[in-house]
Amino acid sequence: MDKILRIAVDGPSGAGKSTIAKAVAKKLNIDYIDTGAMYRAVGYKMLQKGVALTDIEGLQAMLDDTEIDFSQGNIYLDGEIVNDYIRTPEISKQASDCSAIGIVRKKLVDLQQKMGESKSVIMDGRDIGTVVFPDAEFKFYVTASAEERARRRYEELIAKGQDVTFEQVLTDLNTRDHNDSTREITPLRKADDAIEVDTTDMGIEAVVAHICGLMGL
Ligand code: C5P
Repeated sequence: MDKILRIAVDGPSGAGKSTIAKAVAKKLNIDYIDTGAMYRAVGYKMLQKGVALTDIEGLQAMLDDTEIDFSQGNIYLDGEIVNDYIRTPEISKQASDCSAIGIVRKKLVDLQQKMGESKSVIMDGRDIGTVVFPDAEFKFYVTASAEERARRRYEELIAKGQDVTFEQVLTDLNTRDHNDSTREITPLRKADDAIEVDTTDMGIEAVVAHICGLMGL
């Protein structure tokens, strides 16, 4: 592939964005960037270091001293692989909270834009088609019903051995949906030129085939 290709996949939690983006990345042999994992890594570091959401000065100092990178499917925070530490309900909440802070978004959006500067990427998140790559070659907005999204997240957490109930997961998801779509800075919304894909009644393979078909690939 000669031309750099940027593919944006946005949508609410649990809609299947990361599974879809990973599969498309593999099929096209391009990099997959999970931007939610970047907000989770920042949230994780804040909790580790005891930096409060209201301590903007302390947070800026922490961000200035933070490195986030992806390599071979792993996310590195300051050189350490943190995949396993950032998927807990506590970090989900902290990621959602810290993602509403302007200096956190600025740091991560800058990093994401750099990651897509020189190579083809498929990036999933909430603001990829609207803010990070407004001129992306392809934009998708992936959705599913709240119950279906909660069911998927619940099964994922149970498979990882976490002690959660479906009701808890659904409540957390509704809270995060509310936070993500009502926050003042870049709330979750579909870009005007994004193609909406509802995955409620679709299997992963069908969605990947549908998306690749829409891109003519
Ligand atoms: O996608 P994931 O659920 O891992 O994202 C965790 C949190 O990070 C989301 O609830 C959202 O608040 C935030 N996020 C964001 N912008 C992105 C990706 C994630 O605000 N591009």
